[in-house]
Amino acid sequence: MTCGRFRVTLLGTGTPIPSPERFGPSTLVEAGDQTFLIDAGRGAVIRLHQLGIPIGRIDVQLLTHYHSDHTSGIPDVWLTGWLTSHFGTRTRPYRVIGPTGARVLMENLERAYAHDIAIRLADEKLPPAGIAIDVTEFDRDGVVYAKDGVTVIAFEVDHGDVIKPCYGYRFEYGGRIAVFSSDTRYNENVIARGAGADLLVHEVASARPELMAEDYVQRIIGHHTTPREAGRVFAQTKPKLAAYTHIVRVSSNQIPPPTIADMVAETRETYDGPLVVGEDLMAFEIGETVTVQRADATAWR
Ligand SMILES: [Zn+2]
Ligand SMILES: [Zn+2]
Repeated sequence: MTCGRFRVTLLGTGTPIPSPERFGPSTLVEAGDQTFLIDAGRGAVIRLHQLGIPIGRIDVQLLTHYHSDHTSGIPDVWLTGWLTSHFGTRTRPYRVIGPTGARVLMENLERAYAHDIAIRLADEKLPPAGIAIDVTEFDRDGVVYAKDGVTVIAFEVDHGDVIKPCYGYRFEYGGRIAVFSSDTRYNENVIARGAGADLLVHEVASARPELMAEDYVQRIIGHHTTPREAGRVFAQTKPKLAAYTHIVRVSSNQIPPPTIADMVAETRETYDGPLVVGEDLMAFEIGETVTVQRADATAWR
């Protein structure tokens, strides 16, 4: 089996909050010479550009679910990746793999941007194949991609009774495993599919106890995993490294959000293993061990 680099980079660790520090949810996975994007929230193309990765270089766009914060960057990745400038350059179809709903989303984006596409075909003579869309949908757990030693397994998670479908992903490459929870409540399937993970990237949501009495706060937290619950997932899965992304910190006008330190402390009530709180552009190199590289603004190309 070919075995090159296996690297995960958190492009956006945020939520619908339009934060300049935490962009919309999106994660880059590089396995050998193949490149995957899991979701494309707000700003995904900016983060790719900061990494010096041409937007059109993405081989597969994976989708977890259809909350807009996970998909609002998709037209940007699709359209900007087609441009001939060095940051674009896609000449093959934009490959999308997602649960049921991916086709409707992409077909309607084609409709919405039909005028732009027609203009650029006529004016810039961009390659028609580069703006084509190749969608594969799935509706159950299983392998959704396998090529050149990379296997991607989708698994259903529980993001709430009406937020369906919603899937996490497990990547296997060169005997190493990276698992991504997607948005979910505490979920046994994450534990089952997280077995043997080198890296387990999990969502998390928290509010101060004073806020938990509010209905809307209970609704938000009820769609997600609290730090204490995430700790239980990590304790049972025992990854070489657990990492938080999609960091939901609920606040109100009167009550501030919990701090990152608060969330770590709460996680430590149920889990004492390796843990890191993700930041945008934080990268994980998965080898014998999992090493963490924090974003260094001066290193951006
Ligand atoms: Zn969601
Ligand atoms: Zn979300």
